[in-house]
Parts: sequence; C-alpha cells; structure tokens
Amino acid sequence: MAVERTLSIIKPDATRRNLTGKINARFEDNGLRIVAQRRLQLTRVQAEAFYGVHKERSFFNDLCDFMTSGPVVAQVFEGEGAVAKNREIMGATNPANADEGTIRKDFAESVEANSVHGSDSPENAAIEIAFFFAETDIVG
Ligand code: ADP
Ligand code: MG
Repeated sequence: MAVERTLSIIKPDATRRNLTGKINARFEDNGLRIVAQRRLQLTRVQAEAFYGVHKERSFFNDLCDFMTSGPVVAQVFEGEGAVAKNREIMGATNPANADEGTIRKDFAESVEANSVHGSDSPENAAIEIAFFFAETDIVG
C-alpha cells in the first residue's frame, strides 16, 4: 500500500474538553505521523467552504455553527494507506454506530459533535490539505 497524506480536524467539542493530546495519541499509536498541525478558529466563510459538499443537507447550518463554536486543530497525517486508516481510527460518523475503541465511540458527544474530521478519499485529502496548509508547512 502506498504512503498517503490525509487531512484531519480535531473539532470544537474535543478542543473544548482538552482532548487534543488524547486524540493525537490514538492516531500516533496506530501508525499515523502528524506532519503538520495548526490550531485555529474557523470563520463562517471558511466553515461553509470546507463543508460546501454538504450545503444542501438539513444539518449544514447547524454544522457550520458548531464548527465555528470554538477552536479546531487542523492536521496532516502521513502513513501507509493514511486515508482509510484515519477513518478506521475515527469510527463511524454517528458514535452510536462506531466500533469499540474508535475515537468517535469513546469521545464523540453526538452525530454532529463527533470530535474529528477525516478526508474520505485521496483526491479529497489533497483538496482539504491545500485548504489549510502550504506545501512548505508540511514536514514529513
Ligand atoms: P464524516 O465526517 O464521517 O465524513 P459526513 O461527511 O457525512 O461524515 O458529514 C460531515 C459532518 O457533518 C459529520 O462529521 C458530522 O459532524 C456532521 N453530520 C453528518 N451527518 C449529520 C446528521 N445527520 N446530523 C447532524 N450532523 C451531521
Ligand atoms: Mg465526510
């Protein structure tokens, strides 16, 4: 399997509960390397652009409210099959459906406030990484 990069976000519900380190340990302990990381406050414009693919969904407005409700930590992970591995470590979108031992099972508050974002394909990973980071910000 190829070495890939993927975009991860630790969401406001998790930064509010001071879970950045605990969440990062899950990724690092499972073989992903954090090769870029930045804590920031998303603007409404940024949140709407980042989740633009969901703009017709009923939860879009609430999701943008939530994603701007506090700081996030945007990160780039590198590793073998990083896109799929990241999603496996996160667990299902709805924590009620997430497997035991996943981040969302252990930390998510709800289907919306589900602690982490992860890119869903290598193509989207490239787009989402470029949303937050310049190539020179990423040090493998
Ligand atoms: P994922 O983050 O697992 O890739 P999606 O891309 O489908 O999931 O959704 C993006 C985000 O929108 C989710 O992580 C979650 O925060 C929110 N979301 C998804 N479905 C719902 C829903 N039914 N109700 C409220 N929020 C939702
Ligand atoms: Mg998604």
